[in-house]
Amino acid sequence: FGQARRESLSDSLTGLANRKNFEQTLSLLTKAAQESAEPLTLMLLDIDHFKLFNDRHGHQTGDTVLQLVARTLSDNVKGQDLAARYGGEEFALLLPRTRADQAVKLGDNIRALIATRKLVKRQSGETLGRITISAGVAEYQVGEALSHFVQRADAAMYAAKREGRNRVVAATESSPV
Ligand code: GH3
Ligand code: MG
Ligand code: MG
Repeated sequence: FGQARRESLSDSLTGLANRKNFEQTLSLLTKAAQESAEPLTLMLLDIDHFKLFNDRHGHQTGDTVLQLVARTLSDNVKGQDLAARYGGEEFALLLPRTRADQAVKLGDNIRALIATRKLVKRQSGETLGRITISAGVAEYQVGEALSHFVQRADAAMYAAKREGRNRVVAATESSPV
């Protein structure tokens, strides 16, 4: 890719794929999954109580946390996997050839890495505590509308929030939202 195209598909703060890149890749990977009859799993991840973190420590420090979460994601995916910034403090992983139960394990590893990290402000040495994430996982169902697929992962993520946050929840097979 040329530089212009690369920039139009990546998020400037985190360097991850941006929303547009995510949507395009989602479309390509769901088609590929149908044709190959191989699994494809989507994980949506959202930082817990991030508004509170920003209120306490400032938006700039919050931005550094977004970069840390992004790096943790890109460090823990491989090959054809896509790590994207889905929205403000929401991230998405598209995992080809991965079943929901495998994605839950990956999500839980990532969750634990983030939850155990002690955040310290580099300049002042000020302790910022810890942050946690909640994640929802959905495996693509043949013929499923893309919007429905994303909604199932989103609903699972909200279930993780309701159940107490700092956890990963798998979507039920065909629960519409
Ligand atoms: P929950 O556990 O339910 O997810 O609570 P929350 O506070 O994380 O959720 P909410 O959606 O209420 O707030 C999201 C916050 O994320 C609000 C906003 O300040 C912060 N945020 C979104 N985008 C950015 C960003 O680019 N930088 C920073 N620093 N903060 C952001
Ligand atoms: Mg959110
Ligand atoms: Mg949040």
